[in-house]
Amino acid sequence: MRNLVPTLILSVSCMLAGTAADHGDAHASEPKAKPASAPAGEAPASSEHAVPAKAETSNGVALQRLMEGNKRYATGKAEPRRDAVRRAQTATSQKPIAAILCCADSRVPPEILFDQGVGDLFVVRVAGNLVDDAVLGSLEYAVDHLGVDLIIVLGHERCGAIKAASAGGEAHGHLGAVLTPLKPAIEQSRGQPGDQVENAVKINARLMAKQLRESRPSLKAAGDRGALAVVSARYDLDDGNVEILW
Ligand SMILES: [Zn+2]
Repeated sequence: MRNLVPTLILSVSCMLAGTAADHGDAHASEPKAKPASAPAGEAPASSEHAVPAKAETSNGVALQRLMEGNKRYATGKAEPRRDAVRRAQTATSQKPIAAILCCADSRVPPEILFDQGVGDLFVVRVAGNLVDDAVLGSLEYAVDHLGVDLIIVLGHERCGAIKAASAGGEAHGHLGAVLTPLKPAIEQSRGQPGDQVENAVKINARLMAKQLRESRPSLKAAGDRGALAVVSARYDLDDGNVEILW
């Protein structure tokens, strides 16, 4: 499945460069397309759980919508759906198109930077976008009970949690619970060329995404049956763009 990822990148890129985004309520009224299975002769989804190459599949469409929304936001053309009508549409039930695990940083609000409305995103926020049991339980609920089939782990530029973990030193209060899970990314980033915090942000997003893919029993099982894709991404504080890291 890994070799199909470039196809999706090209596909999404072409769509983003094409017609205006469908920003209506189509997703709320139309049933989700069944996730694509591996083409004949090709191995089934690997532990990578890459997004299926066909953008018409559910998580491919969701990723496309999010990237289109980010483009609107980054270019000052956001169309937020946060009015009374949308509130009424979602008051008694929810059908989010994706789950986002991102940092608690005040500058990284997923609904805004992906230009999505009330009820569109299932969001879990914690400093350093780390994975712990509470995060896993929350995301399992989104996948198993709300039908979410796309999770994005979103790291961001100049992440304070990554900076603190990189600086080391004694953690006061409960801060250790945040900094300790970030250490593997810090360690992997040491010695790499370029900015260490920036490198660690990307590594951490990838590691946390990998942890979600391999989480038993729920998320791994969903990935194995083609009902879940987990991707990592980085948000740029300067220009507002989200970059998919995979
Ligand atoms: Zn952060």
